Amino acid sequence: MIRFRLPRRLPKELLSERPARAGFLTRAAGLVLIGCCVALAQAAGLLRPIDDGLARLRFDLLERPATGTMTVVEIDAASLRAADRWPWGRERFAQAIRNLQDAGAEVVALDVDFSARSSPGGDAALKAAVDRRPGEVVLPTFVQKAGEQGGLVESSPLDGLADQALLASVNVPVDADGRVRRYSLGFGGEDDFRPSIAALLADTPYGRTEDFLIDYGIRPTFGRLSFEDVRTGRFDPALVDGRRILIGATALELGDEFAAPKAGVMAGVHLHALAYESLMSGRALRPAHPLAILALACAVAFLLRPRAQFELSPMLRQHALVAAGAVGLPLMLQALAPVSLDAGAVLLAQGLCLIWTVRAELRRRAEAIVREREAALLHQAMHEPETGLPNRRALLEEIGRRMTGDRRRSVAVLAVGLDRVSVLRGAIGYGRFHEVVRQVASRIGEASGEPLVAHLSSSVLGVVISARTAEALRTRVRRVERLDPSLAIEDLPVDAFVRVGAAYRRRGETAETLLEHASIALDRARELDRRALAFHEAKVGDPSLNLALMSDMRRGLAAGELALHYQPKVHAKSGRVTGVEALVRWTHPSRGPIAPDLLISTAEETGMIRALTEWGIAQAVTDLGALGADGHDLTVAVNVSAGLLADRTFRERLTRAAAGRADRLCLEITESAIIRNPDEAMRAIAEFRAAGLKIAIDDYGTGLSSLSYLKLIEADELKLDKSLVAAVNDSARDRLILKSTVDLAHSLGMSVVAEGVETRSVLAALAAMGCDVVQGYLVSKALPIGELHAFLESRSRPARAA
Ligand code: C2E
Ligand code: CA
Ligand code: CA
Repeated sequence: MIRFRLPRRLPKELLSERPARAGFLTRAAGLVLIGCCVALAQAAGLLRPIDDGLARLRFDLLERPATGTMTVVEIDAASLRAADRWPWGRERFAQAIRNLQDAGAEVVALDVDFSARSSPGGDAALKAAVDRRPGEVVLPTFVQKAGEQGGLVESSPLDGLADQALLASVNVPVDADGRVRRYSLGFGGEDDFRPSIAALLADTPYGRTEDFLIDYGIRPTFGRLSFEDVRTGRFDPALVDGRRILIGATALELGDEFAAPKAGVMAGVHLHALAYESLMSGRALRPAHPLAILALACAVAFLLRPRAQFELSPMLRQHALVAAGAVGLPLMLQALAPVSLDAGAVLLAQGLCLIWTVRAELRRRAEAIVREREAALLHQAMHEPETGLPNRRALLEEIGRRMTGDRRRSVAVLAVGLDRVSVLRGAIGYGRFHEVVRQVASRIGEASGEPLVAHLSSSVLGVVISARTAEALRTRVRRVERLDPSLAIEDLPVDAFVRVGAAYRRRGETAETLLEHASIALDRARELDRRALAFHEAKVGDPSLNLALMSDMRRGLAAGELALHYQPKVHAKSGRVTGVEALVRWTHPSRGPIAPDLLISTAEETGMIRALTEWGIAQAVTDLGALGADGHDLTVAVNVSAGLLADRTFRERLTRAAAGRADRLCLEITESAIIRNPDEAMRAIAEFRAAGLKIAIDDYGTGLSSLSYLKLIEADELKLDKSLVAAVNDSARDRLILKSTVDLAHSLGMSVVAEGVETRSVLAALAAMGCDVVQGYLVSKALPIGELHAFLESRSRPARAA
C-alpha cells in the first residue's frame, strides 16, 4: 500500500514547540507570581471572608456543649426596667452577690465598671458584699486610651472596693475588621500582670499572656439567669451552686456588644463566657502561623502548576482533591486537636493555578487548531484533491531530496500514464476512475518500492526511484513498466494499462528538468505507441535544432549523406544467417551522426518519410542484388512507418520497385501501426503479400496489444521487442508470456524473431523456448554493406570448408 506522507520539511513554526527552557522560565515566573499574590492577599486581609466562612463551617460541624461549670447573670432589659435607671445603685449588686454566695457560688465575677464613685451608701454596701468572702469576688479592670494624646491607662475599681477582691481584665482584642476572634490569657508584664477574666475563672496558670482563638463551636449552653431574678432571690440554686458566676450586661441599650464571626453580635459577657468554656474544655484554639500557611499555599501551587505536557482531566481531579483537602483537612485537625488552620491562602493558590491551567489548556487548544489547520493547508498544497495522492509539488520536493542526498545513488524519475483514459472514464465514471488511479498508484508503489507516488495530472502518475546500483534501478524501473494491469473496482474487473516515460539522472539536471524529461518520454511513448521509453537527449533532440534538421534532410538525401546499415539475423539453433535488417544512418556534415529515432520521427513529421523509405527500398534492392551475386542469398527487411500504410501511391510504387525481388524483401511494420488503424493496415498487408512481399510485425510487446490481435494479421514473422527479450530471465511470469507468444505465433504460421539479444544466457533461454531467429549485438550490430560482406564471408567460410 501507499503511505501518504507529508514532506519532511514542514515549516518550522508548525513543528517547534516552544523551547523547553523558555517553558521552564515561564512556569517559574508563574509560580513566583502566585506566591506573591497569595502573600499580598494574606497581608491585606483579603482572605478573611474565605477563612471566616471556612471557620464558621468548622464551628457548625464541630459543635459541642458547654461544660456546665458557669452561669452568666445577665443585666438584661427586664433588670434595667426593674431598676428604672442606669447606673443603678450599687446596693443592687451587693444584694445579687450576697444571694449568689448564699446559693453556693464558687466565684462571682463582675464585668461591670466600678471605677467611678456612686453614692456612699451604695459603694459601702458593695464593699461589704465583696469583703464578705475574700478572694471569691472578681472585679474588672480594663485598659483604655487616656484622652486625645493617647497613652494607655488602666481603669480599676475605686480604692478600697477591691481590697478583698481579685482583679481581672475584661479587655477583648478586636481584629482590624471589628470582629472578635481571639482572646488573651492576660495582659502586662511581670510587674503589672493582669489575667483576663476568662483565664482567671478557668484557673489558668498565673502570668501567661498569649492569645488563643475562641471556639465558637461551643454552644452557649452555660447557665443563664436574669440579674433581677438573682437580686430578688427568684432563681434555681442548682444553676449557682458550685458554679462560677459571671455578671455582665446583655441589654442592648448598654452597648456592651461585639461582632463575632459566627453569631453576629454578641454581648461582651457571653464572649468572656465562651472564652472561659474554650479554656475549660481544652478548646483554646491555636492558629497556624501565617508563614506556615503561605508555605503550604506555595507547595500547593507547585504541585498544581501546569506542566509542559499535561492532560486536563487528571489536573482537574487533582484540583478537586486539593480543594476538598483544603476544607477537610483543617476540619479533621480541629476535630482532633485545638488547632485552627486557615486554608484561604491554599484555596487562593489553587484557584490561581486553576485559572492558569485553564488558560494554558485554552491556549494549547487554540494552537492545536491552528496547527491542524495549517497542516491541512499544507496537505492540501501537497496533494491532489480528487485522489488524495501527493501532487507534483510533493514529487518535485522528493526528487530534489533524492538528488541532493547520496550522490552515488542512481536516480530515475518515471512518468506513468494511464492509457485510454477517456474510454475508461466514460465506462466506469469519474469516481471509480479516481479509485483506479489510486490503485495504480498503489501498484506503482509496490513495484518501485517507493512510498511516494504522485498524481501529476488526470491520467499521469509520477514516482522517483533511487537505488544503489544502476542495475538495481533498472530492475525496479522494469517492474513498474511491466505493471500488472488487472484491477478490481467494486468487484468489477478493470484493465488499467500504463505507459512509462523514464528519465535517469546524469549530470546537471534539476528536479524540474528530470520530471519534464520523464513527461516528454511518456509523450513519445504515447506517440510511438510504446509501453515504455527512456528519455534520451539524442533521440529527442534539441527542439531548436530539430527544426533545422527537417529542412536539411532533403539535401542530405540528395547529397548521399544517408546510408543503409544491415544487421544480421541468425538462426537461433544453427547460427546460420537468414537475413538482415536495413537500418538508416545519417552522418550530418556539422552535427555528426543523427540518432535514427530522431531522424525517423522528424521525417515522419515533415512528410519526408516516403522519400526516405523509397530511397531505402531502392538501396536495399540494389545491395541485395550485389550480395546475391556473391552467393549470399538473403532476405532484407525494411522498416515501414505506420503513416505510409495508408498512402496508396507509396504502396503502388513499392510493389513496383520490389518486382522480381519481392520474395527476398520483408517489410517490418510495427504492431502499434496495425493497432492504430487496423483496417487500413490489414488492407495494405494483404496487398503487399499479394505482391509476394514478406511481412514482419515489429516491436511486438512494446505496445498494449493483446495476443488476440495476432490472429487477425496475416504475417510471416513476429519480432519480439528487445524490452521483452531482455526480461526473459527476469521472472517466471515474463517467461510464461514469451513462451505462450512464441507458441501462438507458431500456431499461426509465423516464425519468431527475437530482437536485441545481447547475452548468451538470453540466447539460450530463447532457443529453449523455440524462438526461431535472433538479432542483436551478440551476433553483430548493424554494418555498412562492405562490412556486412566481410561478415558473411567469415561466417560461410568454415561451412564451405566443412
Ligand atoms: P527497430 O526497427 O526496432 O530497429 C532495431 C533497433 O535496435 C536498431 O536501432 C538497432 O541498432 C538496435 N539494436 C539491434 N541490436 C540490438 C541489441 O542487441 N541491443 C540493443 N540495445 N539495441 C539493438 P536504430 O538503428 O537506432 O534504429 C532505431 C529505430 O529507427 C528502429 O527500430 C526503426 O524503428 C527506426 N528505423 C531505422 N531505420 C529505419 C528506416 O529505414 N525506415 C524506417 N521507417 N524506420 C527506421
Ligand atoms: Ca525494425
Ligand atoms: Ca524492432
